[in-house]
Amino acid sequence: MAIPDAELHELDRLRPPDEARRIIEAHLPRLPSEKVPLIDALGRVLAQDITAPADHPPFPASTMDGFAVLAADPSPWREVVGSQPAGSVIDIEVHDGQAVRIMTGAPLPPGTDAVVPIEATSPAEGHVVIHQEDIQPGTNIRPVGSDLRKGERIIPAGTRLTPPLIGIIASVGIAQVSVARKPRVSIIATGDEVIEPGNPLKPGQIYDANRFSLATALIEAGGEISWIGLAPDNRDHLEALLEERMRADDIVLTSGGVSMGDMDFIKAILFESPDVTVHFRKLFMKPGKPLNFATRGDTLIFGLPGNPVSSLVTFELFLRPAIAIMSGASDPDRPRVPVTLTQSTKPSDRIEYQRARVVVTSDGRLEAASTGHQQSSRLASFVGANALLVIPPRDDPYQAGETVEAMLLAPPVAKG
Ligand code: AMP
Ligand code: MG
Repeated sequence: MAIPDAELHELDRLRPPDEARRIIEAHLPRLPSEKVPLIDALGRVLAQDITAPADHPPFPASTMDGFAVLAADPSPWREVVGSQPAGSVIDIEVHDGQAVRIMTGAPLPPGTDAVVPIEATSPAEGHVVIHQEDIQPGTNIRPVGSDLRKGERIIPAGTRLTPPLIGIIASVGIAQVSVARKPRVSIIATGDEVIEPGNPLKPGQIYDANRFSLATALIEAGGEISWIGLAPDNRDHLEALLEERMRADDIVLTSGGVSMGDMDFIKAILFESPDVTVHFRKLFMKPGKPLNFATRGDTLIFGLPGNPVSSLVTFELFLRPAIAIMSGASDPDRPRVPVTLTQSTKPSDRIEYQRARVVVTSDGRLEAASTGHQQSSRLASFVGANALLVIPPRDDPYQAGETVEAMLLAPPVAKG
């Protein structure tokens, strides 16, 4: 069936990145959840609220090594009637004129209501001399539920788990958490010229960079690689491989083969496959203009450009947030901050994402400098970069001192 001109024209319209993002978002399925042991939950997105099942601490606990006493007891020295370690409860009732040796984290013995630190005491033959006046009830004690109250929502679903959060979950006795399943992703690098690193290059060949940068970016973004490989520029081969991967995976990533060349088959295969819907294939951005986005049922297909910078920048802008949103993450986006340019820069005819280094000055301002030539083949423009500067098109160059937006890929560094 012939595609009407108007539809083709719309498909090839140069879409601003924001519009592309909205189209992608509208097609993202939610990943199901799975239970994992806490130790494996780092970086995963919580699929459940974490609620305190009990008060924490569950007993009034000493915050010091010292002596548990009655605050109102005026005796200057007291008989030591026992020792209360952490981890058990000794059977003792404390009265006026008495004290109990107590360790940090130990439960407060009945009858006592304050702890005097060991530094404020001195020993005296089965007794202790207290060098502290005005002891207030509750001193050096963590009351029941002072850290967490039973029933309190501690961590909301959608939170990405970090070491302290994993510690909190463990502290309330939970051993397994429900998190979003990782999306299964295949990565297909295309190109007859592209070969495996570690082998000698023949004339006309280059080493594969994209499979490695995309695979590691994917792992960092929380994806699981289910298939990865190099594929030749052969239509039948690519068609069969895509068919197999689309059937098996949540996301299929390809690199290369989406431009205007005779051997750029990915674009054609996606476009002509009857059960694949191509949503857009040109972006009003640089690098990354020929990004193809298609779906087949719930499977997402991203035809990334072959140029190594283009494939990584489009991954950053579209794939990383897509995976986060599919995982239910409440903060899917990298932070964007205003930064001051320290050099002039020439705008492109499209929104440009320039690799740059953002530094914090001693008075707390953010300054950005480009990392050199920005052509889409030059992966070295990522060396030293911690941000993508968002440079909208305009006639005049951007001057040093102007403010632009930076998407931070890593924290800014101190100005050296
Ligand atoms: P393509 O989109 O297939 O026309 O590729 C665009 C440019 O990126 C060409 O110069 C390719 O040689 C290069 N390229 C494609 N795939 C890779 C890859 N996996 N690693 C490094 N460069 C690549
Ligand atoms: Mg190619």
